[in-house]
Amino acid sequence: MLGTRTRVPTYLHQFTQKLMPAPAQPERLPNGRRLTNRVKAIMIHCTRYWIDGQNRLAKDCNVSKSTINRLIRGETDPSYVLAVTVSAALEKSLGVPLSMREVFSTDGTYPTGCVCDLSPSCTGCFPPFAYNTDDTMKSEFKDLKPGDWCRSPQMPIPEIPLSDN
Ligand SMILES: [Zn+2]
Repeated sequence: MLGTRTRVPTYLHQFTQKLMPAPAQPERLPNGRRLTNRVKAIMIHCTRYWIDGQNRLAKDCNVSKSTINRLIRGETDPSYVLAVTVSAALEKSLGVPLSMREVFSTDGTYPTGCVCDLSPSCTGCFPPFAYNTDDTMKSEFKDLKPGDWCRSPQMPIPEIPLSDN
């Protein structure tokens, strides 16, 4: 009966359960909203992800391609670990410091409004999906300026009251 020697006594098990509350249900933002992210728009600014991008990002993050796909489609909220890992992979490919807050948002705003401004090399662009197969621009993009497609509301800068002293 070797197994019984290592079994946690029932009273101790109940005790540790009191100390460690059950894991919380996945967090949802108020009104059922999810996190928003700019993973796809940032990937379009990384040459590494131009070909087979979702597969490459999945490998870089050591997760499945479907995890990346669901994230990009906004079907799931990422765990904190996944958000950190994806941000780090994008930062490495972009080649400049990239805050996780520039990638994920709880209210749709980001510190830098336009993803083009996060890139060290983009001065304003249109994405590949703005063009038809014959290289003409799709009608829904014709009235946009370069960079408009990946522009989000800018995060309000909190006002810090200055002391008179
Ligand atoms: Zn751009």
